[in-house]
Amino acid sequence: MNVPEIPPSVTIIQSIQWASDRFKPGPFYNARLDSELILAHVVRLDRLNLYLNFDQPLTSSEKHTFSDLVKRRIQGEPVQYLIGFTEFYGRSFIVSPAVLIPRPETEILIDYVKPFLERRLQKAPRGPAPQLDLFNVNPTQSVGPITVVDIGTGSGIIALTLASELPGLLYYASDVSSAALNVAEQNAERLKLKGQITFLEGPFMVPLESKLEKSCDLILANPPYITRSDMAQLPDEIRGYEPRVALDGGEDGLECYAELVKNAPIFLNSGGMLAFEIGADQADAVTGLFTASQLFSNINVVKDYNHLDRVVSAMYAG
Ligand code: GLN
Repeated sequence: MNVPEIPPSVTIIQSIQWASDRFKPGPFYNARLDSELILAHVVRLDRLNLYLNFDQPLTSSEKHTFSDLVKRRIQGEPVQYLIGFTEFYGRSFIVSPAVLIPRPETEILIDYVKPFLERRLQKAPRGPAPQLDLFNVNPTQSVGPITVVDIGTGSGIIALTLASELPGLLYYASDVSSAALNVAEQNAERLKLKGQITFLEGPFMVPLESKLEKSCDLILANPPYITRSDMAQLPDEIRGYEPRVALDGGEDGLECYAELVKNAPIFLNSGGMLAFEIGADQADAVTGLFTASQLFSNINVVKDYNHLDRVVSAMYAG
């Protein structure tokens, strides 16, 4: 790839312009933002301070690093991997090629389950539910700490965001990849949540301890959900960089949902919730899995800000 060399002497503002002019337009590029994020990372300033120091010249090592990262960006590498961070739900998270890059749509899942957990918290110490409602379908809830499990935690965004928003609950997060768990643990450390969350290595619910049986209030996951044929069609910006294990949902894209719906009843308490992020065309199939199991009620589909189906949840009625 032929990328013109960065001029020998450039200021911050000229570097931003130089890079933005080279990023191709398209869904995976936001030329100005990408340039600013990469440059801010290289010169160790936040984005606002770039503009307060707009005429500061780059040192030769900054220039070298910046032009190298710009070339990698032009070749398709996601900006989040280049700078090692991303934002999710107002917090900054470490990301590496070992984890899926958090998507803003996943914030819908957080917004959806928060009120459910808040209600469970208000009811603590938990006894018989006073009335039946969407979030409280069974009056025989068990007593114990409110327990939340994030399956396939990746960078840890779901469990760590909930633990930040709603401290004092029991949080577990599992992942099949030890490299991903390592990133999640670094994020827990940065957010000062290390003591508040237990990380477990293994697939699905396999690593959950038997003491969690029938004691979980909420199990949630943003599992890999791309079908085998869609995997082949994924743009290089995704397929070439993000971990396959975080994307590939098996032949029909539903393998993880089927596994989780099958095993969640072992761990959920009565009235506990199972909630998933889904692909926009998977609502019927995933609600179908819940219906077929006959162990769930209050099956609910939630749309994202683009009016696409994004979350499916159901209550364990066992
Ligand atoms: N739970 C993480 C996220 O939502 C990782 C999900 C995954 O790897 N499929 O970003």
